[in-house]
Amino acid sequence: MTVELRAGGTDLTERRRSGVSTGPVRDIEPRAALTAIEATPGGGVRIGALVTIDNVAMAVRDDYPALAAAAAGLATPQIRRIGTIGGNLLQRNRCWYFRHPGTSCLKKGGDDCPARAGNHRYGVLFDRGPCVAVHPSTLGAALLAYDAMVLTDGRGAIPIGDVFGDGSDGHRDHQLGEDLLTAVELPPPVRGERGAYFRATSRAYAEWPLAEAVARIVVEDGQIVAAAVAAGGVAPVPLRLPAVEAALVGRAPTPDVLAEAGSLAAADANPLPMTVYKGRLLVGTVTEVLERALS
Ligand SMILES: Cc1cc2nc3c(=O)[nH]c(=O)nc-3n(C[C@H](O)[C@H](O)[C@H](O)COP(=O)(O)OP(=O)(O)OC[C@H]3O[C@@H](n4cnc5c(N)ncnc54)[C@H](O)[C@@H]3O)c2cc1C
Repeated sequence: MTVELRAGGTDLTERRRSGVSTGPVRDIEPRAALTAIEATPGGGVRIGALVTIDNVAMAVRDDYPALAAAAAGLATPQIRRIGTIGGNLLQRNRCWYFRHPGTSCLKKGGDDCPARAGNHRYGVLFDRGPCVAVHPSTLGAALLAYDAMVLTDGRGAIPIGDVFGDGSDGHRDHQLGEDLLTAVELPPPVRGERGAYFRATSRAYAEWPLAEAVARIVVEDGQIVAAAVAAGGVAPVPLRLPAVEAALVGRAPTPDVLAEAGSLAAADANPLPMTVYKGRLLVGTVTEVLERALS
């Protein structure tokens, strides 16, 4: 039987209590490599998997502003103080069919996705696979925007995007299997980078976003020379938005340019019947995050 690892326990405990997680549990031993934040030889930073989300926010505030904003903006202060960067990336999805102990679904070993024919109003805007749950990790979207690497004990260093896959695997929330995620590595900081995080939620406090966006932008001599924009809450995996990025680079950061780029955020979306509203929501969320990054 699969042993489930416990870091901060904020996601796992809820699934234990509800009876969705029933197998054996093992606490992750807090050895130095998992709790440290240290510079890498290449000029970046390595963050141990057990570093809490609020410590991530503080540690990267100066050099990785979009990641800092995302870490400081997710969940609640209590969760950020206990939840870890590793646990945030590997937390399970929030679909109510998955979270209900009496309901079968693909991610619990079942044969189909009950949300697809049922109530999927918080589901995907980008329908990429048989399961219609969105990926819940805010830090996943932020780290995707930074092209972070994830270190594991089983398969070494892998790009953050490979941790999640392309969204077509309806059976898993991530692709690490039973590997231990040991650390996250960020490339060297980019001088002058501006960053922001913005989310649209259905209630003001203690809620996962309906849509969220992270933006990193570098402006030199009045022109945008680099842009990385990622979205969460809209697909089975965190997504980079290449059309938005391409519409920014090489142009002046005017309100019209930001609005035009933001309008492309949902260009290749294929919503479900109940998630059409997320298209406009994502466009507004991305436009807002671009404005905040440059304000
Ligand atoms: C009210 C509320 C609002 C929230 N809003 C958001 C939000 O907006 N955005 C967001 O991203 N999250 C949100 N969360 C979720 C929260 O961020 C996660 O519960 C937390 O980050 C999980 O971290 P943890 O260390 O407690 O993980 P745990 O609960 O310990 O583990 C979660 C899962 O990851 C696995 N795991 C953990 N660490 C490792 C590791 N190092 N290697 C291998 N497997 C591992 C565990 O086996 C488990 O399956 C919210 C939670 C609450 C309660």
